[in-house]
Amino acid sequence: MNKITNHMPTAELQALDAAHHMHPFTANAELAKKGARVITRASGVTLTDSEGEEILDAMAGLWCVNIGYGRDELAEAAARQMRELPYYNTFFMSTHVPAIALADKLAELAPGDLNHVFFASGGSEANDTNIRLVRRYWELMGQPEKTVIISRKNAYHGTTMGGASLGGMQGMHAQGGMPIPDIVHINQPHWYLEGGDMDPEEFGLARARELEQKIDELGEGRVAAFIAEPIQGAGGVIVPPDSYWPEITRICAERDILLIVDEVITGFGRTGKWFGTQTYDLKPDIMTVAKGLSSGYAPIGGSIVSDKVAEVIGREEFAHGYTYSGHPVAAAVALENLRILEEEKIVDHVRDVAAPYLAEKWHQLADHPFVGETKIVGMMASLALTADKSVRKPFEAPAGTVGYMVRERCFANNLIMRHVGDRMVVSPPLVMTKADIDVLYERAVKSLDEGY
Ligand code: PLP
Repeated sequence: MNKITNHMPTAELQALDAAHHMHPFTANAELAKKGARVITRASGVTLTDSEGEEILDAMAGLWCVNIGYGRDELAEAAARQMRELPYYNTFFMSTHVPAIALADKLAELAPGDLNHVFFASGGSEANDTNIRLVRRYWELMGQPEKTVIISRKNAYHGTTMGGASLGGMQGMHAQGGMPIPDIVHINQPHWYLEGGDMDPEEFGLARARELEQKIDELGEGRVAAFIAEPIQGAGGVIVPPDSYWPEITRICAERDILLIVDEVITGFGRTGKWFGTQTYDLKPDIMTVAKGLSSGYAPIGGSIVSDKVAEVIGREEFAHGYTYSGHPVAAAVALENLRILEEEKIVDHVRDVAAPYLAEKWHQLADHPFVGETKIVGMMASLALTADKSVRKPFEAPAGTVGYMVRERCFANNLIMRHVGDRMVVSPPLVMTKADIDVLYERAVKSLDEGY
């Protein structure tokens, strides 16, 4: 038994970390030089590191700790379930109460006829399920040639081969032979970087119509589905122009393709409604959920499937499943998380208190000399850093250099913000109070004032 604990000196923990732990999505050369910040505990919206510093977590971990840290009820739900039934699967002909209860609850919460849940351990796995679901659906419908899934550049749908292929991150595609066959990408509705002289609404329409053009180019008989996040999250909180989603909805309704809405970030209150699908009035055939489903307290995700798709898939065995699909402990934790979200009216808090106040403060940041635009929907926000705000001019330094510097200054000022290129993003716990938002704002201003 090793004796590595929170009480060891930071430098020793960092040395052990560097020796044996391979980090996801981390600049490894820099990590080797500087060492990672060791987070030891968390409560509410605040993390504590091994030096005792308190850090405001304006990213809710990885966009997931919607109810905030330190909720004992979730620990108790996990412990109770572990004692009663720590594991069983729902393969073959068995089931268990946590999976039944969580699927039932999700069918109640999800809009429209999204009434069936296929569980996974997170968003990537759920999107892999979706690739198989939509292709299987068309096969059973007698159209096996409908296999192509259309996605968008700069989208993020996970890190498995399937998820990363659906995603449109070039840096990921460059490492390891992606995208896998029959996944194609159209342009994103990113007006600030790519809109040129067009006005945003005209640009939104033009980008939406690329879906129709791509369907025509490929032939409708080849296209299985279109997948998108209501608001691109990891791509930089790219809020689409108002014209975008209604046009996509029209195209999906007129064409014989399925719509997969990836709600891994936008689900469970993030946009001020339970789902981004409701914020944008979408009619998905499948919705991907994870993250806020358990507020990150346990790894769980899933595909919430419409009656129409579930009826077809249910005709025969679907040869797919994960050892941890509907894991009873994760499901019990998720149920408790949903209970808290509902009973404490956290989505109402976002809509009525937190999001309007964050929006007020966030838009004040637009007055800063090198902030070009500020965008926010609910509790997810972004701002563009720019060398000249009047013309949306990029910096002389390679893209992302200034964003990285600002992120580091925020980190040093005990504020977790993320940068995506030269765009800064936040996605705070939904339970933030006005006082927390004031701290976020003050630390953001301080970090921006330190320049680049
Ligand atoms: N889909 C979206 C929209 C995401 O933002 C993410 C993760 O950030 C994923 C899928 C992948 O989820 P996971 O990391 O749980 O596999």
